[in-house]
Parts: sequence; structure tokens; C-alpha cells
Amino acid sequence: MALEKRTTTAPVARAFCSTCTQCDRLAQYVAGSREKYPGYRGLPVPAFGVSAPHLLVVGLAPGLHGANATGRPFTGDHAGLLLYQTLHHYGFASGPQSLRADDELRLLDARITNAVRCAPPQNKPLPAEIRACAAFLADDLLAVKEGGVIIALGRVAHESILNTLGLATRAYGFAHGATHTLPHRLTLIDSYHCSRYNTQTRRLTVEMFQTVFAKAREVLQTHQLAVRQGD
Ligand code: SF4
Repeated sequence: MALEKRTTTAPVARAFCSTCTQCDRLAQYVAGSREKYPGYRGLPVPAFGVSAPHLLVVGLAPGLHGANATGRPFTGDHAGLLLYQTLHHYGFASGPQSLRADDELRLLDARITNAVRCAPPQNKPLPAEIRACAAFLADDLLAVKEGGVIIALGRVAHESILNTLGLATRAYGFAHGATHTLPHRLTLIDSYHCSRYNTQTRRLTVEMFQTVFAKAREVLQTHQLAVRQGD
């Protein structure tokens, strides 16, 4: 467990629970999606990937017609296309596409989660909902191996990670490509979110996204080399 030391303001980690209904608004919204769209899973979405990874990718929240429908983060809508292609390109996924929660895809030393586990209306969780879900995020963050990398997809994910770790957000400004050294040899790398809006407006290009994952791979290789050399 890489991050035992946290401030008293950080939430206590809690194992993910797919029946959580702590946020009334979101619980009703996802339950409503089950009725409105038969076949949609319509529950809190679990993280996907290995349980103790060197790479953790943190998004904002499930998309109504994506992860909320399929039950796997970034699966079923546009946002996952670039993410899984890029994970595969840098050796973090066994294939370039995530089609369904029960397909053959595996993540390799990586895990994907969201700051908020229930799909929010207009993709906008409320601050209280982000705080409520932070206990599940804490569980994923604690599982990242020492020397690991956390990629934040967007400012909300960035701030949720820092708040969950009990670190001051003012000490770690968000910017695409920014790299932050955290306690326990962890590295936080920021990226614009790979949403349809960001990619179609070219606020985020393929090259910009690849730069983030190339940096993550470089950091991990440097750390592994240091471990081998007994640093
Ligand atoms: S957003 Fe998180 S805390 Fe809120 S109901 Fe969903 S799983 Fe529970």
C-alpha cells in the first residue's frame, strides 16, 4: 500500500459497492436510466483493470450512454475510443478497443476508474457527490504501487485525486501535460479529458494525448530501472 500517510481531512478508503445509493440525485438518475433504456446496467460503475497497478487513469464520471450502459469505464461511447487506443499503443492494454464489459480486453499493469461512480446529469457531478464518492477513489489510489503513475483526465479528476490524498490543490496546478511529484514516489500527470467535445474541437489531439501516456511509460521505466539498481 503506497500511500498510508494522509492528512486527517482525507476520506477513509472504502471498497467499491455496486449497490451504493448514497447520493440521492445520482442514484435516482441511474435507476431512471434502467427504466428508460432497457438493457442499460444503470448502477455505480466499478473500476476496470488490475487491482494493484503501476498506472491508474482517473476520469470524471460514467457517461450515461457509455459506462452507465455497459458497466465498464469508458466503454460504449466516444470518450473511450482514444483512451483504449492509446493505452494499447503504450502497452497498457491487450487490445485497442473496449467493446463490452465481458469482452476479452485486459489492462496490463493498469486500472481505470472515475472520480464519481454514477453517471451524473449533463456529466456534471455536484461537489457533494464528488466528496461522497471519494472513499471509493481513495481505495483505488491506495492500491497504486510505489513508483506508480496516476493520470488525471480533466481538472475535476485532478482535484479529486489531490483532495482524496489530503494534498493541497494550490500546490499542484492543473495543466495539460503537467507532471507533479507526489509522496511515495508517485507521479501525477494531467491531461485534458478525452471527451468527444475536446477531441472534436481539437482542444485535445491524438498527439497531445499520446504525449501524456508516453510520459507515464517513461516515468515507470525510470522508476523500474532505479529499483533494479537499488536506488
Ligand atoms: S456517486 Fe458514488 S457515493 Fe454517490 S451514489 Fe454513486 S457510487 Fe455512491
